[in-house]
Amino acid sequence: MKKYDLAIIGGGISGLSAALILSAGIKEKESMKGKSIAVFDAGGSDALKAKFFNAPGLKQGTSGKKAIQKLTKQVESYGVVELFDNRIVEIIKENEFFIIKTKKDKEFTASNLLLATGFRSWDIKGLELPIKPFTRTDNSSRVALEHTEYKVSDNIYVCGLLADVSSHYPIVAGTGAQAAINIMYDWTGEWIVIHDK
Ligand SMILES: Cc1cc2nc3c(=O)[nH]c(=O)nc-3n(C[C@H](O)[C@H](O)[C@H](O)COP(=O)(O)OP(=O)(O)OC[C@H]3O[C@@H](n4cnc5c(N)ncnc54)[C@H](O)[C@@H]3O)c2cc1C
Repeated sequence: MKKYDLAIIGGGISGLSAALILSAGIKEKESMKGKSIAVFDAGGSDALKAKFFNAPGLKQGTSGKKAIQKLTKQVESYGVVELFDNRIVEIIKENEFFIIKTKKDKEFTASNLLLATGFRSWDIKGLELPIKPFTRTDNSSRVALEHTEYKVSDNIYVCGLLADVSSHYPIVAGTGAQAAINIMYDWTGEWIVIHDK
């Protein structure tokens, strides 16, 4: 079974933004060469309900569906991250690996996790996580995770709404990018910045 260096759980705006920055890192930086990353997504991004007028860089009136499609294509263009349409139902820590189980009984293995499942619920079994109420709304059913600089605990990171940030495209995308940079720092000891010409 292939062992990924990182599994991103949730391929909405923040998870895909993280995948984009990690893809660029793997392509551009010798110290990142050979790192393997998978994104698992259940297809229910909040963005799919949106029409964006205030998202920087997106044409006004862009549907959330189009925004997700564009971001997915951008990630795919690097050809380094594997994208799976799968709902994850359970994650079990076994020694230094996470065993990731899908709704359709498939199993994947990864040594790090980036959790990007949004704020609607936490329903993945198996991990003990510091779950808390999301603080930026009056809706008490929303959830988030305690973290420091997007790190929840050893080898577990978080981004997007699950990191308890405001629900706006540029903000959640930024947390995905920052979590990706932090992960690359933990792996390589370098603060990697990729600026294209
Ligand atoms: C109606 C509406 C209108 C909006 N309008 C705007 C706007 O005008 N401007 C703006 O900036 N923002 C807007 N937003 C907010 C924006 O869409 C969200 O902030 C953004 O989508 C959150 O990104 P995220 O990555 O945290 O979560 P999401 O984009 O929701 O992604 C989470 C992903 O995780 C996946 N997932 C969850 N559980 C699992 C699991 N167990 N296994 C695998 N995958 C899983 C989901 O399927 C989903 O794809 C709007 C949101 C809504 C609902």
